[in-house]
Amino acid sequence: MAEFNPIVPSIFQQYGLVCGFTTRTGGVSLPPFDSLNLGYKTPDDRQTVDKNHNILFSLLGVDAAKAAVMEQVHGDRVSIVDSGGISLETDGIITSESEVFLTVKVADCIPLLLFDPVRKVIGAVHCGWRPLVYGIAEKAVDVMTVCSGTDPGNVVAAAGPSAGPCCYDVGSDVAGRLAHDSIIYRNGRIYADLRTELLNRLLNSGLKPANIEIIPECTVCNESLYFSHRRDGAQSGRMMGYIMMKV
Ligand SMILES: [Zn+2]
Repeated sequence: MAEFNPIVPSIFQQYGLVCGFTTRTGGVSLPPFDSLNLGYKTPDDRQTVDKNHNILFSLLGVDAAKAAVMEQVHGDRVSIVDSGGISLETDGIITSESEVFLTVKVADCIPLLLFDPVRKVIGAVHCGWRPLVYGIAEKAVDVMTVCSGTDPGNVVAAAGPSAGPCCYDVGSDVAGRLAHDSIIYRNGRIYADLRTELLNRLLNSGLKPANIEIIPECTVCNESLYFSHRRDGAQSGRMMGYIMMKV
């Protein structure tokens, strides 16, 4: 069995955070959810998904009771949390509490992690195309600014593996909601580059280019490493972006 092998953004490495993006390896789910499926809203066995969470928490040294989870609805709500638990109808969570483990579940959408090393605030944001065009990334930075006095110029951001412009063809309805720079026309089809959309929105929020890392891996292309809803539909598991400040 392949081992637990999260992708840890290098931009965060100097800060001593617990953070990263899980891949599909290291869990106990059977095909087609092999193996580290962290999605309860999948047809996978619930106890197995529990086991996968326990494996993750144990390897990362996380108190399961302090895991902050979102009921993601592809909306634009950003919630502030100070403990573990479920935030209803939320696609972004922010905390200034150490030991609170922020999580975002994905299978193609961009998991975005934020950190203000000056004010000691972290965030996890679900960046599908809808939350993105609703402005959820800018909103998350705004919430950090208003509630914690964050200067956006200090915010460090990492975007995890996601459906790349190689594979993410969209209709003209979706393309019409995205910035011109985020659209690629190829062989009579329209492809969305949500990473560029996210990058430009973060820059507009005042983040510095040197403080943004975007993992270029495509979830759809790399079946051995990533779950992909676009590729596998209802048979797709879920991966997790996570971030936590240690005491
Ligand atoms: Zn691809």
